[in-house]
Amino acid sequence: MGLNILTVLYLIGSVSFILGLKMLSNPATARKGNLVAAFGMTVAIFGTIFLYQDDQGNKLGNYVWIFGGLLVGGVIGTLAAKKVKMTSMPEMVSLFNGMGGACAALISISEFKHLSIALGGDLLINSTDDYSSYQPTVLIIVLGLIIGSVSFAGSMIAWGKLNGKVKDFSFPGLNILTMILLAVAIGLGAWLVVDPSNTYLVYAILALALTYGVLFVMPIGGADMPVVISLLNSFTGVAAACGGFLYNNKVMLTGGILVGAAGTLLTILMCKAMNRSLLNVLIGSFGGNKNAAAAGSKEQGAYKEISLSDAAMVMSYANKVMIVPGYGLAVAQAQHICHELEKVLTEKGVEVKYAIHPVAGRMPGHMNVLLAEADVSYDILMEMEQANDEFKTTDVVLILGANDVVNPAAKNDPASPIYGMPILEVEQAKNVIVNKRSMKPGYAGIENDLFFQPKTSMLFGDAKKVLQDLVAEIKSV
Ligand code: NDP
Repeated sequence: MGLNILTVLYLIGSVSFILGLKMLSNPATARKGNLVAAFGMTVAIFGTIFLYQDDQGNKLGNYVWIFGGLLVGGVIGTLAAKKVKMTSMPEMVSLFNGMGGACAALISISEFKHLSIALGGDLLINSTDDYSSYQPTVLIIVLGLIIGSVSFAGSMIAWGKLNGKVKDFSFPGLNILTMILLAVAIGLGAWLVVDPSNTYLVYAILALALTYGVLFVMPIGGADMPVVISLLNSFTGVAAACGGFLYNNKVMLTGGILVGAAGTLLTILMCKAMNRSLLNVLIGSFGGNKNAAAAGSKEQGAYKEISLSDAAMVMSYANKVMIVPGYGLAVAQAQHICHELEKVLTEKGVEVKYAIHPVAGRMPGHMNVLLAEADVSYDILMEMEQANDEFKTTDVVLILGANDVVNPAAKNDPASPIYGMPILEVEQAKNVIVNKRSMKPGYAGIENDLFFQPKTSMLFGDAKKVLQDLVAEIKSV
């Protein structure tokens, strides 16, 4: 009876994951989608804790450990999520993803121990036994161990890179060394499957996979981190699915497969958005600063500035204004005053739209989340392709704290480290006003020719302050 109810609860959990994921793909339903998926996870967790029984009818027990862990993890997770700034969200995603990978690796280690005990306490004593019936289980254990450890170690390095504590690191032959490490880890894994009595191989595989995870992410440039995090996220999903196989737990399997598939699709979409292959991202060191220095030192012409009152005037008398939000808008927390500007302009009869680049900010969908928080209508958020069509008929583009995503070098300069990344082609508009605090480069560390073009004017200052002043000026025009 208990098992039947549990099966129904697992079904409810699985359906909630799928519905939640579907709702997450649209900013209008994303918040609800998150809650629906969280509900599914709660049902799955508590269903397992209270209703699961093994073949002998034993319940889980260990309630003090389980609820102690839930409490500690729940409190840390809640505080971290409440405290995190929107701009640090990718770091947190990376950290939490790493925890998922670590869980999968620990499950593999503990399940291998259980298997050893089931086989008589010490596999070494029985080294002449026939292990064929256990080999599929050992295969899943090895897969979970390798993938989970790589995901954990790689995510920790990605976390360190995003918060600036870990610097890019590479040396000639590093890619070959990492390939060899992975091949040896897989080779030892195959050996363990053939002969599970070699218990020490588990720890050798763990050490190799952790080292591989570190070295695999170390040389990848900062600007490629979102792709790497998404890829590691899909690894964690696959590792969790291995856990689902081990425990014959359908909801864990479904959840793992969904994360694995979603992470893989997001990785592919991001590579497409940058017009690069995944292999190029992983071994190309794009976004690393070795080319950036050269590009940054290129001689630039003069740039011109615009005063607040002139900017207010140009925008007030425009037919159409496109706002391009970037990372700086998020740092300045200027989304609400930006919405205010849009309303003031709209009241004056100006058509206002937003042009959203897929990797503007520091995580996929960053700008959509930010603008949704400020109640900006989804109807006026243009995706990159739509926006690029609209710029031709735009009088003023107002760039707010964006830099790399509007850098024409991505289109025109094959030597640029961001060459090939699709950009918002703002220079097609009649006028471009750029708000940032200085002439410093953005995330990729490279100069931006756009700032030196004749139709571009710089409006220096913190985005929030500038927008407050701009709104006041426009109201008085
Ligand atoms: P960039 O990082 O290229 O540029 C942001 C600009 O904002 C800076 O040049 C900075 O100039 C300016 N700025 C910073 N603070 C403020 C402020 N308070 N007020 C006004 N301006 C400010 O941002 P983009 O959004 O154009 O591009 C995103 C970059 O991040 C891309 O390279 C992308 O690949 C990368 N990335 C994207 C992720 C994603 O998934 N979206 C994840 C990780 C990286 P100044 O200092 O002069 O003010």
